[in-house]
Amino acid sequence: MEIATISATLGALKTSIDLIKSAVAAHDESKISGALKDINDRIFQVQNASLQAQEKMSSMRDEIETLKDGKRQLSARVAELEHQKSDREKYDLHELSEGVFVLAKIEASQNGRSSHYLCQPCMDNVAKKGVLQRESRPFTYILSCPICKYEYPTGEVVDVRF
Ligand SMILES: [Zn+2]
Repeated sequence: MEIATISATLGALKTSIDLIKSAVAAHDESKISGALKDINDRIFQVQNASLQAQEKMSSMRDEIETLKDGKRQLSARVAELEHQKSDREKYDLHELSEGVFVLAKIEASQNGRSSHYLCQPCMDNVAKKGVLQRESRPFTYILSCPICKYEYPTGEVVDVRF
């Protein structure tokens, strides 16, 4: 039952009260008991309707809270993505050795060497900053990603002195 129905039932209740007043004035016992029964029925209907309205309001309140939580989570995610995007924009592809690409900081590469290189697949696919670590392998140096463990050949040869 909706709020409009509650109002209509309250209107009918007023009519029942008017009826009982005229029945009392006429001292008509059967009309009085009939009108009383009618009033009781109306009161019961209004109680039921207000109970349903309360339940509806409470479930709507829950729904609003759920929506607010969703909005908070989305705002946090948007902020996170914006942060990742601005981070990514600071880096550009750099050819480490022939056909081998890593991410280098744009500002740093403009005035010479990049201070560090990042693993491009880790940055673009899983949004993680894998700062490449220089390691030596037999006869050569590689840059290793601490996240995906990929080894980027630098093309630099280890200087072996006998
Ligand atoms: Zn990686």
